[in-house]
This record gives sequence, structure tokens and C-alpha cells, in this order.
Amino acid sequence: MFSMKPLARLLATSLTGLTLSHAALAAVPFDQGQAPGIYRMMLGQFQVTALSDGTVTIALDKLLTEIKPATLAASLRDNHLAPMAETSINAFLINTGKQLVLVDTGAGDLFGQPMGARAGRLQRSLRNAGYTAEQVDFVLLTHIHADHSGGLSHDGQRLFPNAHVYVDQHDADFWLNSANQAGAAEGQRHGFDEAQAMLAPYVAAGRLKPYQGGDEIVPGIRAVPAYGHTPGHSYYMVESGGQKLLLLGDMLHAGAVQFPHPGTTILFDVDAAGAKAQRAREMADAASKGYWVGAAHLSFPGIGHIVKDGKADAYRWVPANYNAW
Ligand SMILES: [Zn+2]
Repeated sequence: MFSMKPLARLLATSLTGLTLSHAALAAVPFDQGQAPGIYRMMLGQFQVTALSDGTVTIALDKLLTEIKPATLAASLRDNHLAPMAETSINAFLINTGKQLVLVDTGAGDLFGQPMGARAGRLQRSLRNAGYTAEQVDFVLLTHIHADHSGGLSHDGQRLFPNAHVYVDQHDADFWLNSANQAGAAEGQRHGFDEAQAMLAPYVAAGRLKPYQGGDEIVPGIRAVPAYGHTPGHSYYMVESGGQKLLLLGDMLHAGAVQFPHPGTTILFDVDAAGAKAQRAREMADAASKGYWVGAAHLSFPGIGHIVKDGKADAYRWVPANYNAW
């Protein structure tokens, strides 16, 4: 495969010899962290970059609902996962050639200890991808939950100072109305304070733009209502040069369980029945039409295809084939 010049070959051989004879080499300290947390692909004329916000450990056996414990345990076992599973938080950046569009912002400061500080890395991943936060023209939120909108602001300041933030009107109305807080399930109440804190700086600057479901926000990027997980939860369909990528937000939280058992819901769902019906429709559509999907909580980069898995109502995930560019 390689043609090495004789001198180089000699040098390589002697270096290998040196390495083998150096018994202390194993004492090199462990390095920390992964590769830079970016993954690029072209979609027609658009460049899409998946940005890792990091990971968070969640207790799948406590959070997943509408699945029998034995079935859940078997799915985890089949995928070599423990019930406390490391779960990716992915955001997606689309460079249309004219605009820079970020879909979701990661958790920001909101997933600090004790949940584990391995999240909140979106700004770092954005820089690693060669962009600055100032260059982002549009932030599109799939919904207002800490791990999607938590990266919008820090200490009352906008982290994307030149961006307009788009979110479905139903989510803005729900999460920005503190009257809803009292009626919410206990585990969801903090979400209202977080929503206020993240969005208030954009509201004050006239940069929050709630939309009606189905709007085209940027040429080639359209919001698709997918209500259930939250009242305004939305997908974004990105389309260029005849290619399509659907960004799924929180349609899935645990691929290992929800591909084989799509009826499985999660306690974070505001309307679990709505989320379940939405997932069934979307999995069938993505599998039959074969477009790309990008998911916030499948293992980074979370880009691939959903395919039918033979049995009725069961699917499997086909991750994008790696391309080193
Ligand atoms: Zn989420």
C-alpha cells in the first residue's frame, strides 16, 4: 500500500526497535477527552456539522415507561448497555452558503454537577468546527428543554449575540407562562425557570421569533410540527439539491430500546401518548422514504438512517458510514 524510501524504512525500523525496548512507555499518563466533537457531511449544497455538546448519564430503567422491565433489560443487554447509560447530546449546524443555522444549543451550564459536567461543550465544538458564536444567524430550537435551550445564554447574556431564536409558538407559550409551572409534574417544574432564564435575554432584544408550525424559516429549512414530547416540539427538515435530512429533536432518547420497541415513552414527555403516536408515524415515514435523520440523543454524531427491522413495528438504526474528508 505504501512505497517507503529505503532511508525512511530504516528509520522506521529503528524507531520501532527503540519503542519495543523501552519498557517504561506504558507509564505515559492517560489523555482526557475525545476527538474534537464535530462530524461533517454535505447535503446537496449545504454543509451540515453535527456538534457534540457532550454526554449525560441517565437511568433508563427509571425513566423509560410503557415497556416491561424484562423487555427493557433484554434490549439493554443486546446493546451491551447498563441501565445507567451514557447518552449523547447532539446539536446540528447548517451552513447554507448564505446563512449559518444552529439547531439546538446543548445544555450550557444547566447539566452541571451532580448530573455530570460532561455536557455543555457546544461552544467548544463550534470553535473546533471553525466557527464563532457571533457568526450564527439563526438558532432553531426543536423544543425548550434544558439540553436543547440551555446553551442559549450565560448570566443573562446572549451567547449568540447576532442570532434570532426560532421556536414553535406552542412551546414559547407553554414554557414562558409561569402559570403552567404550578400544574406541571414535579420533575418538570424547574424547566419553567430555566426556560425563562435562557430566553429572556432574546425576548428583551426582540430576537425571539415564535412561529406557527410548518413555516419555512430559512430557504431549505422548514419546521415540522411534532407535538407531544412538549406542546410545540418540532422537527426541522433540511433540504438541498434533492437530499433531505430530518432533525428529530427528542423523538428518541434511547435508541437501543426505542428502535425495537417504538412504543416506549420517557418521563420527560409532557404528553406521552402524543409523543408515542408521533414516533410511530415518523419512524414509518423515515424508513419508507429513506431520508437522512439527525437525532439529538443517539450516539454522536447521531446522523444515519432508520430502517425497518423485519418484524412488525420494529426498526433499527444505520449510522452514517464514516467519511474522513
Ligand atoms: Zn433532549
